[in-house]
Amino acid sequence: MRRKIYILADMEGVSGIRMPEQVKRDGSSEYEQGRRLMMKDINAAIEGCFEGGAEEVVACDTHGGGGQIRLEEMDDRAIYETPAAGRLMPSLDDSFTGVILLGHHARAGTLNGFLDHTMSSAEWFRFTFNGVELGEIGIEAAWAGHYGVPVIMISGDAATAAEARQTLGDAVECAVVKWGLGRNRARCLSLSRAHALIRETAARAVRRAISGDHDFRSYRPALPAIVELTFNRSDAADAASLRRAVERVDARTVRRRVESLLDIYFW
Ligand SMILES: [Zn+2]
Repeated sequence: MRRKIYILADMEGVSGIRMPEQVKRDGSSEYEQGRRLMMKDINAAIEGCFEGGAEEVVACDTHGGGGQIRLEEMDDRAIYETPAAGRLMPSLDDSFTGVILLGHHARAGTLNGFLDHTMSSAEWFRFTFNGVELGEIGIEAAWAGHYGVPVIMISGDAATAAEARQTLGDAVECAVVKWGLGRNRARCLSLSRAHALIRETAARAVRRAISGDHDFRSYRPALPAIVELTFNRSDAADAASLRRAVERVDARTVRRRVESLLDIYFW
C-alpha cells in the first residue's frame, strides 16, 4: 500500500499569524501576508512528510471553505484540493496512513486560544457529540475516523495542542508554534524555528505512522450519537431547526441523532 498523508490546513494556527486581520478574507495586505505564511507552513509539512517516508501527500485548505492556497508557491510533489459541499476532506479514504491538522486553533470558549472558535465564530457557541464538547479538531478527527485514519500530528498554538491531546490522546505529535495572548493576539516563534519544528514533527509523525509500531488511534466516538449545537443567537437555531431530523432543544440549541461519523458536520 502506498504511504499517503493528508494535510488539512487551517489558517488561525499558522506560524507568524498573530492578528485577526491576517485571516480575514478581504484582499488586504495583511490577509495576503497570512496566505503567504500559510504556504510556508504547508510546504514545511510536505517536506517533513516526504522526509518521513510518505509517497503521496494531499494538501487541502479548510479556512473559510478553502481557496487560500497559492498554487504557484506550493511544493510540486503534493496534490492540492479544496473542501466540497459537505465533504471536509474530499479525497480522504481508508488508503491514507494519517492526517495532519496544520495551522489549527482551539474550540470556541478556550482561554488564551488564539482566534478560538468552532466552525463559525459568528454563530456557533458550543458543539457536543454524545455530551462531549468538541472543536474542529474532534470533528475533523471523527471524519477521518470514519475511514479508520488517525490524526498523527497537529500544529497551532499551545491551547490547540492541549485540546488535541485531550481529545485524541497523548500519541498525537504536536508542533506548538505560538501562544495565545487572550483571543486576538499571539506570541510567535520566529518563522525559521517554526518551520523547522513543523518539518521535524511531520517527519517524526510519518515515520512513526508507517513503522507499524505506533499507538496512533483513529478517533471513533460511539454511534449512533446525539449531536447538539448551541448557537450564539436564537435566530440561527430557528433556521437550523427547519432542517430534516433536527430537533429544537431550547431557544439557542438544536439536536440531531447521527448514524455515521460523516454526518458529524451537517449544519
Ligand atoms: Zn480557519
